[in-house]
Amino acid sequence: MSNSETIFTKIIRREIPADIVYEDDLVLAFRDVAPQAPVHILVIPKKPIPKLEEATPDDHGLMGHLLLKVKQVAQEAGLTNGYRVVINNGFDGGQTVDHLHIHILGGRAMQWPPG
Ligand code: IMP
Repeated sequence: MSNSETIFTKIIRREIPADIVYEDDLVLAFRDVAPQAPVHILVIPKKPIPKLEEATPDDHGLMGHLLLKVKQVAQEAGLTNGYRVVINNGFDGGQTVDHLHIHILGGRAMQWPPG
């Protein structure tokens, strides 16, 4: 299950193009191909964890790193007036790509509740 390959694996390997805004040994951040806000960036672990639900205690450090990089990427994108952070988990969560990813949405005021 954790070896499943997705389009995000191909982006990590540079097999398909992406507008990458940040990378280190553990995570990659790139602009969403179908942005839902003026700024819409995805931050993903390079480890192919299919969804948040499948993260394990071994991923403790990685999860913390990922979230701190979300903050850094949002700052570097100029989102000084706030932004939304979203993880869609599984079918009812609206997840469409089975590789854990955190959405950063900003550049406009968000609505609540989400649909
Ligand atoms: P999910 O619905 O939370 O799984 O989000 C998946 C996101 O990946 C969607 O917002 C898609 O627009 C985005 N996406 C799918 N394929 C690509 C791609 O090739 N490059 C960048 N973003 C993508």
